[in-house]
Amino acid sequence: MRIKEEIGMNNSTGILMVEAIELIKRYDNIYLVSHVQPDGDNIGSTLALAKAIEKFKGGIKVIKVDDIPSDYQFLPGIDMIKNYDINEPIDLLISLDSSDLNRLGLGKEFARKAKRVINIDHHITNDNFGDINIVSPSSAATGEIVYEFIKKMAVDIDKDIATCLYTAISTDTGSFIYSNTTYKTHLIVAELLKVGIDVETININLYQNRSMARTKLFIDSMNSLETYLEGKVGVIAVTQEMLKAYDAKMEDTEGLISFVRGIDSIEVACLLKEIDKNEVKVSLRSKKRIDVSRICNKFNGGGHIRAAGCTINERLPVTKDIILEEILMNFR
Ligand code: AMP
Ligand code: MN
Ligand code: MN
Repeated sequence: MRIKEEIGMNNSTGILMVEAIELIKRYDNIYLVSHVQPDGDNIGSTLALAKAIEKFKGGIKVIKVDDIPSDYQFLPGIDMIKNYDINEPIDLLISLDSSDLNRLGLGKEFARKAKRVINIDHHITNDNFGDINIVSPSSAATGEIVYEFIKKMAVDIDKDIATCLYTAISTDTGSFIYSNTTYKTHLIVAELLKVGIDVETININLYQNRSMARTKLFIDSMNSLETYLEGKVGVIAVTQEMLKAYDAKMEDTEGLISFVRGIDSIEVACLLKEIDKNEVKVSLRSKKRIDVSRICNKFNGGGHIRAAGCTINERLPVTKDIILEEILMNFR
């Protein structure tokens, strides 16, 4: 009993959840939406809530806005994520793990059309774009908030839902080692394990399932590592040419940036992903000191203190100069 109280969110979040559940009860055409370049927290939270709403009242749809990385194909309910016609009637849109509407890609149009938008997220840079904003930056993953939300709905957390929530929380905390991990994280995950999920299989799927293509890309891009400020800043790049050479996809860069941050001298790790000739996706990670969400915010991106991203519409070498200048300024 005491544990349950400790896990719970604060009062105002609880009230917002009740209001959001009222909207779910009231409306018929309800959509959930993933974000562009979806990660484990996004896919896991979305599927968990989709399955819970399915049990609660049925009829939920999940809009696909981008390709789902192979890492998450094992998740129960993954086939629920589909393409939908914008001309279908839409009453309520629920967004998970997105700090702003642009992160929803084509989901932004669905949001514009919806009568109401519920925004559930944990990014410090969230701009409160919803009619109801359940934003909790102290939560390690959106999956933690969704856990509370499903509890509030009084829907039983079954193995499928628990598997999705475990994936969400494990991936966003780097298997419970990042600084966003709290005692609440562990209390929630303990509850998920109680349900009897197959943690061994989930973890093999998530972390011990790397393809040879991804491995070769990993080795090649590590060779591109450049360091600055006596090794405090590390930059690596993945180009379209490299992807072609190994028959890999951009999602195969997963894990690269954490590896760079893992170098002893590194405080800020930077990964530059060449999406197109004039479009580079920048990922930043920091270890202890620098707030990288502030850096990415300057380029209309966002994220968290220790993990953030943005897109810069320049060629790769120009992007590198721009972002490096900003990173180095933060060390002064
Ligand atoms: P990434 O480097 O893409 O793994 O992203 C790190 C964190 O920053 C994640 O929590 C993302 O949701 C967030 N993020 C990445 N890119 C953006 C962006 N363009 N706008 C807002 N948040 C972002
Ligand atoms: Mn995400
Ligand atoms: Mn997240």
